[in-house]
Amino acid sequence: MSKKNKSKADASSFFSCIEKNFDKAARYLSIKKGLLEQIKSCNAVYRIHFPVKIGKEIQVIEAYRVQHSHHKLPCKGGIRYSTKVNQDEVMTLAALMTYKCAIVDVPFGGSKGGIKIDPQIISVENIEKITRRYTSELIKKNFIGPGIDVPAPDYGTGEREMSWIFDTFLSLSPGEVDALACVTGKPVSQGGVRGRKEATGLGVFYGIRELCKMKEEMLSVGLDVGLNGKKVIVQGLGNVGYHAATFFHEAGAIIVALAEREGAIYNQEGLNVSNVILHLKKTGSILNFPESKNIEDTEKALELECDILIPAALENVIHKHNANRIKAKIIGEAANGPLTPEADEILEKKGVLIVPDIYLNAGGVTVSYFEWLKNLSHVRYGRMEKRFSENMNTELLQVVETCCRKKIPIEEKKMILRGPREIDLVRSGLEDTMINGFHKIRDLKKSLKIENLRTAAFVFAINKIIDSYEKLGIFP
Ligand code: NAD
Repeated sequence: MSKKNKSKADASSFFSCIEKNFDKAARYLSIKKGLLEQIKSCNAVYRIHFPVKIGKEIQVIEAYRVQHSHHKLPCKGGIRYSTKVNQDEVMTLAALMTYKCAIVDVPFGGSKGGIKIDPQIISVENIEKITRRYTSELIKKNFIGPGIDVPAPDYGTGEREMSWIFDTFLSLSPGEVDALACVTGKPVSQGGVRGRKEATGLGVFYGIRELCKMKEEMLSVGLDVGLNGKKVIVQGLGNVGYHAATFFHEAGAIIVALAEREGAIYNQEGLNVSNVILHLKKTGSILNFPESKNIEDTEKALELECDILIPAALENVIHKHNANRIKAKIIGEAANGPLTPEADEILEKKGVLIVPDIYLNAGGVTVSYFEWLKNLSHVRYGRMEKRFSENMNTELLQVVETCCRKKIPIEEKKMILRGPREIDLVRSGLEDTMINGFHKIRDLKKSLKIENLRTAAFVFAINKIIDSYEKLGIFP
């Protein structure tokens, strides 16, 4: 958010915004106040300052790790590198992780980390130094480990940082046979799982695609069923936004605008996402992309005519001052907390369908869970069953061919015979999780007559967490 708009955004803290959503949901449940307070509050907040030598200077780095909930262990949540990192933000993002994991049935408590740096202006060597030092600080205080707290990528971090974290953890934990499971989002060559990089964006796509299949909801916003031909705007072309935009484009949606820090580009007829990325790599900016119009004030892109708006950059980008100008009929919260509560209310009154972050961007943690399981089981997905499935399928096809007295064309045969690879299993697990998650929230919304999907998602998550407390025998 620009400085100008930061002052325009609503004044309440990010954490209190989530508390408001939680409180709205709690009204649908008869749960003791103390228990609700326990679920809401952050269980542990670790704030650190450590020195790092950058050039000839010593720089003091501010960093955080927050474990919001220990109702399931390990805790799980990404690490963010940004100059805007602060305790309130990390606490909020950790809380969102708790609810997210409950919704997609991933057995983790929520956590989050953050380092207050701008990775765009710091050299790779220094980012590595800071990442390794941060990891050793977490190890010192027992804030990282396969059964304790497992970081992952978030805004400003990716596979590279995760592999440094793993390497640091491994070197300081000799003999730890499960060390690979101390962090997810690693490169495949270092124990990562195929499909993690694009998981959040793909999950966003699966979630919105499912909503667009619902006649009732599409009727309510005056849209046809299906994604084909729908006009989409994506804000933020990083890990989440780039992959989401690519999947929408491939499914036949029309990407009419893409927004980045330096500005936005617009073409009513549609933008080819991979060509925009090539242009970005070549010129260092998305602006001046051939056959598109530049929009200098990047936030204005959010207000353009479209069917689906996907904010995939940062929080609070839609607030009470611009909410009324938003024309999208569906908003898919790919980023965490892109709408302030005030904006949420304005848009709901306008009849906009809002798909909440605590469900929609849970694809990342879902596939992180698959990666963690892979690391703990020390075996690649598909290794045990691929050949077996292929042999079974071959026999089955032979029977079909004999019975029908007909040969199946070789290309079709290859398709049917193929046993599952890791990427197939990960993607089908993700698709199933996102589709199930959507229907659980939608069904609950209908059965309890809840006003919107966000509140329904919170109700679902709180119920799930209460369940685990009961199973643990705490707060019977
Ligand atoms: P990223 O760092 O890969 O990408 C963020 C992108 O947003 C960058 O390209 C950046 O230049 C752009 N950006 C920054 N400010 C902008 C602005 N004002 N206007 C337009 N673009 C802007 O980060 P990411 O991992 O894609 O995360 C994006 C959001 O998704 C965050 O809210 C994050 O918490 C959330 N999220 C990420 C994951 C994940 O797996 N990475 C999972 C769940 C949620």
